[in-house]
Amino acid sequence: MNSASRASLSQQLIDTCLAMNAAGINQGSAGNISLRFENGFLITPSGLAYDRLQPDNIVLVALDGNCKDRMKPSSEWRMHRDIYLKRPEAGAVLHAHPTFATALSCLRLDIPAFHYMVAVAGGSDIRCADYALFGTQQLSDHMLSALDGRRACLLGTHGMICFHDNLEKALWLGIEVETLARQYWHARQAGNPVILSAEQMQEVIEKFADYGKQPAGED
Ligand code: 13P
Ligand code: ZN
Repeated sequence: MNSASRASLSQQLIDTCLAMNAAGINQGSAGNISLRFENGFLITPSGLAYDRLQPDNIVLVALDGNCKDRMKPSSEWRMHRDIYLKRPEAGAVLHAHPTFATALSCLRLDIPAFHYMVAVAGGSDIRCADYALFGTQQLSDHMLSALDGRRACLLGTHGMICFHDNLEKALWLGIEVETLARQYWHARQAGNPVILSAEQMQEVIEKFADYGKQPAGED
């Protein structure tokens, strides 16, 4: 890829950060987003307000952690790097501190199959990873365990992280996870949500395989 395509992908990354904040799933410069690129990934710089980001502020990090750019990459580059290393299907990663997902993470609650849409994360629950200090390898190790067989998880007393094929789908999934967290929060406030069985969730996962696939040209 040449530098022009790096610049346009960096702009897409910035647009996704702005869309994430506009969707209300993140606050200020918290959170970070990345996109698989060449032998590594493009990632937001650490601590910069998204509305001031320029494409040349976006940092390239190699999969071995090497970074030659002047700007410091997000302090969470290890979580992004480990997803790209361990999950070959990941094209983009989104980390945020959405209110309800974060509130559940502070209670160290997994999101169980209280609603069939939980299957969008890949299985019958969305796990909450154990707590570790932000920016550490320990946090990334806890995240990888919670992501086993899933493409989203909560991060204990911190927030959530998810990945998908591309930036658009990663943003969609981040919004879905926060919507589920909000619904689960409200359902728990009102009573004891009924949890779908493993068989019921397996049916959902199978049905999702061709859900929304319209004839060519109609999707
Ligand atoms: P960065 O600004 O370094 O990306 O950190 C934000 C964050 O959410 C840390 O967990
Ligand atoms: Zn964070």
